[in-house]
Amino acid sequence: MRNGIEAMITDITATTAEAEDYTGEDGLLYCGKCHTPKEAYFSKETAQWLGHDRHPTECDCQRAAREKREAAESRQKHLETVEDLKRRGFTDPAMRNWTFEHDNGRNPQTATARFYVESWETMQAENIGYLFWGGVGTGKSVSRLFPSWKGA
Ligand SMILES: [Zn+2]
Repeated sequence: MRNGIEAMITDITATTAEAEDYTGEDGLLYCGKCHTPKEAYFSKETAQWLGHDRHPTECDCQRAAREKREAAESRQKHLETVEDLKRRGFTDPAMRNWTFEHDNGRNPQTATARFYVESWETMQAENIGYLFWGGVGTGKSVSRLFPSWKGA
């Protein structure tokens, strides 16, 4: 059992070296591309307890690759959330692709809607809502849920 645990710890704490990697003056493995360490030392106490003095860490190019991957995943998740909200918010599928660029300029309330969208961070921070109402085809009026809001 102990040998199994030791083997597992050794496996977890082993760093895979690429051909261009090298050992630095501090004895740690360095990335041959970005020249930053791919390993770090444990504290002396931890190293004594584990019987192993180092663990893998990200070099700069691994970190950059991970951050780029995470940003892409975050962007994808955001797009999926937006699509889900459009699907639930607009019963007519054609409306899901409407943007201000599709506006024909006939409804003066569009400027207020645009202001609301362009000021979204402030609106969200101050918990300001925006509501359209009216019969079909009438051109919706605009209401603000907070009377202090001046609009555009
Ligand atoms: Zn690197």
